[in-house]
Amino acid sequence: MQAHDALFIDGTWRPAAADGTLQVTNPANGTVLATVPAGGPEDVDAAVAAARAALPGWSGTPPAERAALLGALHDVLTARREEIAEIVTRELGSPLAFSQAVHAAVPVAVSGSYARIAAEHTFEERIGNSRVLHEPVGVVGAITPWNYPLHQIVAKAAPALAAGCTMVLKPAEDTPLVAQLFAEAVAEAGFPAGVFNLVTGLGPVAGQALAEHEDVDLVSFTGSTAVGRRIGAAAGGAVKNVALELGGKSANVILPGADLARAVKVGVANVMANSGQTCSAWTRMLVDAARYEEAVELAAAAAAKYAPGDPEAEGTRLGPVVNARQRERVAGYIEQGVKEGARLVAGGPEVPEGFERGAYVAPTVFADVTPEMTIAQEEIFGPVLSVLRYEDTEDALRIANGTVYGLAGAVWSEDEEEAVAFARRMETGQVDINGGRFNPQAPFGGYKQSGVGRELGPHGLGEYLQTKSLQL
Ligand code: NAD
Repeated sequence: MQAHDALFIDGTWRPAAADGTLQVTNPANGTVLATVPAGGPEDVDAAVAAARAALPGWSGTPPAERAALLGALHDVLTARREEIAEIVTRELGSPLAFSQAVHAAVPVAVSGSYARIAAEHTFEERIGNSRVLHEPVGVVGAITPWNYPLHQIVAKAAPALAAGCTMVLKPAEDTPLVAQLFAEAVAEAGFPAGVFNLVTGLGPVAGQALAEHEDVDLVSFTGSTAVGRRIGAAAGGAVKNVALELGGKSANVILPGADLARAVKVGVANVMANSGQTCSAWTRMLVDAARYEEAVELAAAAAAKYAPGDPEAEGTRLGPVVNARQRERVAGYIEQGVKEGARLVAGGPEVPEGFERGAYVAPTVFADVTPEMTIAQEEIFGPVLSVLRYEDTEDALRIANGTVYGLAGAVWSEDEEEAVAFARRMETGQVDINGGRFNPQAPFGGYKQSGVGRELGPHGLGEYLQTKSLQL
């Protein structure tokens, strides 16, 4: 795919009104892949106006026709999945096999699920003497991060379009190329002009203009808690809908009696995937005192299998992080962990030997981490695991719930019911029991400061609908 030196507005690629470009860099070696326009407030205005103009037509389109177009979008994404994987590998740095299995396959699955949901959903219900209509919220402003770049776009666009909303997307600065591919796919699928619009640009410029735009009805944001808080405050001031998918510091609770070897192996894999840049990663592993040292040894040995490598080379399991700034941030957290007294049992802050040109971090495991340490409280967003010791189940629960976040988590037990009972007491939006696999239709979202609202499946569709009651 050739990068577009343009924005996708009202069904066509057109030059940005604002000057300036974003450079897209390959984090594996620092080479510049492309430049794309850095749109400004004027561009956001034009995109919002196009979305507003397209709203009556699209919201009035029968759900079955909207579902058919989502089916066509699913087909285009399916046909282009290899290209998607290659683009994400180049701009994000994730290993190609992971890009194929996750960065391409999950958005394909999610777009397919919304083609079905849109076809099956009853956009009307009867309650007593009322007909309750489920109507689209209106014009959506979507702002997405770089870590699962296409998934996060599709998790907003597919339900928004299924609901009958129109939208403007401002994707992350580091990964605009796969966003451009998505805009191409929308056009190829045959959506009417203006239903989906793309403005690439800087967060504090184009992102902020979109979040604060008075003609946007719903702002859906995925990203850091710091930016999410500001977007939520601005939306509150303007009395508009807002959905926030923010950070996490999820606990992987291994209960006494669980299969320790398996729980640790899967737990380490969960943290190392995507170089630790997963909002729902289980970055805190909680192990009972009796098996703590054994777990630490297993975790260090498992981490050693994630040797850094070229993401385009076959067999690589750990690529770079997204950019040099992120590398420095992660290294800073590792130094902080050492300073606060945690015991480094794998990895460290140094650039792995031979990988000086890229944004690489060694797979890192800390033992003797206590709950109040910075590395047990803050989201690091790198391949760094903290292993914590607990005394009993109540202690494990207290530690698991002891952060401001509540996005995900895991529980391992020889007795599934015991694990479920523990999960019920966790203050978090998703819990995987004994390695239960990701379900692209299950509601995804945060308790506490991990967010507001839910994405994916029927619950995700509901975020883009509002109700109107007709009393008969
Ligand atoms: P970020 O908040 O810096 O950026 C996210 C998006 O917001 C980007 O498109 C950026 O350009 C834009 N942005 C930045 N400043 C803005 C502003 N002032 N106004 C409007 N938009 C602005 O986050 P990031 O570093 O790109 O992403 C990593 C974060 O995302 C992590 O904290 C991670 O946990 C979180 N995340 C959460 C989920 C979830 O579903 N809960 C999923 C993925 C990532």
